Amino acid sequence: MPVIRSAPVKLSARAAAIGESATLRVTRRAAELKARGVDVMDFGAGEPDFPSPKVAVEAARQALADGFTRYTPGSGLPELRAAVAEVYQTRWGSPWKGADSVITVGGKAALFQLALALFEAGDEVVLPSPCWVSFPEQILFAGAHPVTVPTAVDDGFRIHAGPLLDAVTPRTRAILLNSPCNPTGGVISPEDLRQVVAFAAERGLIVISDETYERFLYDVPPASAAALAAEFPDTVVLVGSFSKTYAMTGWRLGYLLGPGPIIRAVENIQSHATSNPTSFAMVGALAALRHAEPEVEVMVAEYRARREIIADGLNAIPGFRLRPPHGAFYAFPEVSACFRPGRENSMAMADYLLEEAAVAVVPGAAFGADDHIRLSFACSRATLAEGLARIAAALAR
Ligand code: PLP
Repeated sequence: MPVIRSAPVKLSARAAAIGESATLRVTRRAAELKARGVDVMDFGAGEPDFPSPKVAVEAARQALADGFTRYTPGSGLPELRAAVAEVYQTRWGSPWKGADSVITVGGKAALFQLALALFEAGDEVVLPSPCWVSFPEQILFAGAHPVTVPTAVDDGFRIHAGPLLDAVTPRTRAILLNSPCNPTGGVISPEDLRQVVAFAAERGLIVISDETYERFLYDVPPASAAALAAEFPDTVVLVGSFSKTYAMTGWRLGYLLGPGPIIRAVENIQSHATSNPTSFAMVGALAALRHAEPEVEVMVAEYRARREIIADGLNAIPGFRLRPPHGAFYAFPEVSACFRPGRENSMAMADYLLEEAAVAVVPGAAFGADDHIRLSFACSRATLAEGLARIAAALAR
């Protein structure tokens, strides 16, 4: 059959401006090497190495066997929405009910749909930096501008209210927090969080609190925007995920909780975008929420131990600088003292480590911090030991 070529495909300006997620790129390149038989030590993806909780797997399997395979309401299973709201009410005293939530296709979709619901051309969104790769892209995709406020390695990347609030202008629409932070592990204190939310409420701004890593905290007091939702009901939007807490990344389930008008807008967007998240996966998530707390505690304890191992190992590498992260499961050392020709920036350094040492890391440039690289410690202790040894050897060359 003859192939009839047409004019080059013309993409929308929106699509042309967006690139592949750097973390997914590293995962893809590491997978290519693994497929060629290379034994890659993978610190790339933010993906727990634990299996999903047995109760979740069993519940989802049973749901499938029972034929629970049809559309559900677009905003998710009512029982799951109610259970999510109840968890936050019990733990933080938030006023949200099931109807104040939407179950989404991962926390990523919650954030993306929120950006579409809230932001438009000319708006500014203030957020701490370094930050997760998808935040700026999603904000830009919605036509708005990310305004980043630096946090510092010497300060343990703590998120302070003062500099964030100083960055607010008449164009600011929202403040986007992610505590604990991917990639830095930095956290915000309950006092600073209150200050941010109170200020935002006074100005009519929204505070989006991405608490995907909320359960992974090391020796600092927990802070959730849910604790402020009763007092500031029009201001606080909380985003959460089953991916990291329950090692359920592939199930693609997240959620948001917040003010009615925002929830309705996201429901409408979702009704045209994905409709409901996968029916039987939500049954599994409900079981995880109700019964998997023991597994979560085991995982968090293990991450705590690995954090010590990776912090000690990285600090022993000449030129690396790191303070143990306060939360999440990433180490984000400053490595610029090790830059040389051939590994002259974080991207080249990540390529060098992959090619020369078969170690996958994510370049800090992806998060707005070119002097750093990110290593996930959601991997086995054996991977940690071997990977750290390989990095040290490769950089000594
Ligand atoms: N927010 C942050 C800060 C993340 O790091 C991630 C995943 O890496 C997400 C949200 C979204 O996770 P998911 O879409 O798997 O729920």
